[in-house]
Amino acid sequence: MRNQYDLVVYSNLSVTPHMRRIKLHGESLKAFPTGQETGYVKVDFSKDKNTKIMRSYTIRAFDPERRLLTLDFVDHGDLGPASRWARQAKKGASIRVFGPGATKLLDPHADWYLIGGDMSALPAIGANLEALRADAKGYVIVEILSQEDQQLLNLPTGMEVIWLIQEDSDPPNKQLVETIRAVNWLPGRVYPWFAGEFDGMRNMRAYFRDEKNIDIHSMYLSCYWKLGATDEGMKRAKRIDAESDLEGTNIQ
Ligand SMILES: Cc1cc2nc3c(=O)[nH]c(=O)nc-3n(C[C@H](O)[C@H](O)[C@H](O)COP(=O)(O)OP(=O)(O)OC[C@H]3O[C@@H](n4cnc5c(N)ncnc54)[C@H](O)[C@@H]3O)c2cc1C
Repeated sequence: MRNQYDLVVYSNLSVTPHMRRIKLHGESLKAFPTGQETGYVKVDFSKDKNTKIMRSYTIRAFDPERRLLTLDFVDHGDLGPASRWARQAKKGASIRVFGPGATKLLDPHADWYLIGGDMSALPAIGANLEALRADAKGYVIVEILSQEDQQLLNLPTGMEVIWLIQEDSDPPNKQLVETIRAVNWLPGRVYPWFAGEFDGMRNMRAYFRDEKNIDIHSMYLSCYWKLGATDEGMKRAKRIDAESDLEGTNIQ
């Protein structure tokens, strides 16, 4: 990811209690490619040259005319540099991003869709749904942190949305896996698209690959964060998982 963009905060608004929408502006965005929604940028929170701290955020929207890049940040408290920054970033604050990284699009030729994840995946889910064909069928299952974190999703009428509220006592993504098991399986080829917490996505992989016999190349399963680990810790866990998974079907 060599392309670097030095930007400033244009606006920082609350979408729902645990989601902030930050629009970034800069003349350098003149060179930013269009059509990259669902892809991601690396946001640079490094303190100095020797300690690189980068975090991945989905491109929720891009307006090339106004040079505005929209990112949605889950507010998960003050523990991580990204969430901490997003909670208080003021208009005009400087921030550097790199990218974009590859888009995470749905397979347009699938017969139906099983889409979901937790709040970290909502920006990619929202952007994907907006691009979905009008006659698409299936389910969107999203685990959110409170009832008020439901978002208005712009989606085809054949798609049913199921919101799940994560209980404090439950590990993240637990209800997601349970709910997917219970949905009415539609005829034809399904395209599963899920992103969320590391262990939740491993359970999801076991379900789709081992129980439903779906080839890893015919779905998108991605781990976006790991409970109790920083982003750097999550990446280490992903590498170990990839090495130890005998089928070689590691989550991305
Ligand atoms: C391709 C990709 C796209 C992504 N897009 C988005 C996006 O659009 N919006 C978004 O909000 N996130 C997104 N993420 C996830 C985001 O990069 C991680 O959540 C990241 O760890 C946040 O960094 P941090 O500095 O806030 O916390 P870190 O320093 O990484 O972690 C600190 C602590 O916070 C916890 N934590 C981290 N993330 C979460 C979370 N989401 N919920 C609860 N606890 C958490 C960790 O377990 C750890 O204990 C994406 C990740 C990937 C790989």
